[in-house]
Amino acid sequence: MQNQSNNMTIDPVNILKEHSLKHTKQRIRVLEEIALDTVAISQPELEKKLGKEIDRVTLYRILNIYEDKGILHRIMDMNGTANYAICSSSCSEDHHHDEHVHFNCTNCTKIYCLDVVLPQIKMPQGFTAATMHTTAYGICEKCSVMVSK
Ligand SMILES: [Zn+2]
Ligand SMILES: [Zn+2]
Repeated sequence: MQNQSNNMTIDPVNILKEHSLKHTKQRIRVLEEIALDTVAISQPELEKKLGKEIDRVTLYRILNIYEDKGILHRIMDMNGTANYAICSSSCSEDHHHDEHVHFNCTNCTKIYCLDVVLPQIKMPQGFTAATMHTTAYGICEKCSVMVSK
């Protein structure tokens, strides 16, 4: 199973440049934190890590800009907490291509972006779906190794 999609070559300054955003120190820090891991990071976790450098309001603002610009996508976990992951490079403003399956581990609570494309679902006549989110819940690769030991 592949789940380490595209987080290995994240260059915050480059990403900001590509989206014609000013690269402030704070913006760079947020991207660095999110790109650090191949799993999504929750908003409370981000606040904990960056709280000393970036106040809450500024952090929200930065996350919103990144979501709008197609740099990040937001995934709600089973508790309704927002988690963020870097988008695939094909994403751009108003055009997210992040319609992959997410996996929320019920053991470690981590959220993974899986390299699994959502199947096309036919909508009833008159309904136009703009986005679709699918989250699978269960035990992740790492946790199932620990369980079986
Ligand atoms: Zn897990
Ligand atoms: Zn994702």
